[in-house]
Amino acid sequence: MQQPDPKEIMILNRIVVFSVIVLFIIIAAIYLLFVSGKTGQYSDFEDYIFGTYVRIRISSKVNPSTISKAIFNEMKRLEKKFDPYIESSIIYKLNHSEDWVEVDDETLSVIDLALKIARDTEGAFDPALGRLIQLWGFSKFTEREATGTFTVPSASEIAEAASKSGYQKIAIDYVNKKIKTNGAWIDLGGILKGYALKRAYQIAKEFDKSCHGFVETGGQIMILGPKYNKTHWVIGVRDPRGQPGENITIVYLSEGSIATSGDYERFFIVDNVRYHHILDPRTGYPANKAISATVIAGDPVIADAFSTAAFVLGEDRWLFTRTVFPKYGAEVLLVTPKKQLLRTDNFRIYEMSDR
Ligand code: ADP
Ligand code: MG
Repeated sequence: MQQPDPKEIMILNRIVVFSVIVLFIIIAAIYLLFVSGKTGQYSDFEDYIFGTYVRIRISSKVNPSTISKAIFNEMKRLEKKFDPYIESSIIYKLNHSEDWVEVDDETLSVIDLALKIARDTEGAFDPALGRLIQLWGFSKFTEREATGTFTVPSASEIAEAASKSGYQKIAIDYVNKKIKTNGAWIDLGGILKGYALKRAYQIAKEFDKSCHGFVETGGQIMILGPKYNKTHWVIGVRDPRGQPGENITIVYLSEGSIATSGDYERFFIVDNVRYHHILDPRTGYPANKAISATVIAGDPVIADAFSTAAFVLGEDRWLFTRTVFPKYGAEVLLVTPKKQLLRTDNFRIYEMSDR
């Protein structure tokens, strides 16, 4: 019998070792790609809508660019349809008509929901402040900021606009699908991005119910599904008096929505006083009993509208917020003017990473 050549054995051994390593690498790659899914399978998209950047981070078996385009198109449709200053929009029509106006189902349900939230928050959220918002110049914020043409309206101008504002003026005829504004101007700025995020979620899930990621519009995020389909997204809540990136807390979310209303997004300063875009319907002036309000809720419409309301209610009416808001699924973190943090009972749960 011929003795095996030791050289041949060595080569054979090397081939075996090499094959095992290659196999291991292939298995690891397959695991990373399909099981753990950590290898950069998120795609990012961005567009400018609602006067802010809308960002989509999504992972899906359907082409992510197709889903994102559908979401951006839907948001642009909503922006046009509900812009109170575009003459062809339904809101413009409602605001400039003295009579009943026939509306489509979507308009009826969005306005009906906005009025319900106004009642639930005792008018802190008010979708009929259009005249005041225009008077303060926040309807043309970008333009005014660029030209530095902000002024503080006079007390009598504010009183006049306030007397022609308020959600109680809006009447709905559910049988004939008609709305009458009775002189008030509807402005859905405090709820529209939340509604757009709700539509974004619906659209993404219609394409692929197991897609995951999130959609972000300015100060609000809607989760589409857990990170890598298995862990929380880590979200910083911005310090309202810090630099971007400086946070007052971190929350961990794998579903639902988080919205922050702050006095630092759209504001101007005259004689050292900060005037910003969230108005207290009781006074007609910018609300000044909070500097930011964050709401976590399953429904992005609730998160959006209730964060605006929590801001208006502020520290003075915190007990109302703390007692009533969780009943509507809204957990709140309020930052008072002195930078004290107030939380509803379950807000802390979202601050735990190991839940
Ligand atoms: P952002 O749009 O910066 O995310 P909000 O969601 O808090 O902030 O909405 C603020 C917008 O809502 C304002 O720009 C204005 O159009 C409108 N608004 C202002 N005050 C109120 C209020 N008290 N209730 C409802 N909407 C309001
Ligand atoms: Mg809001």
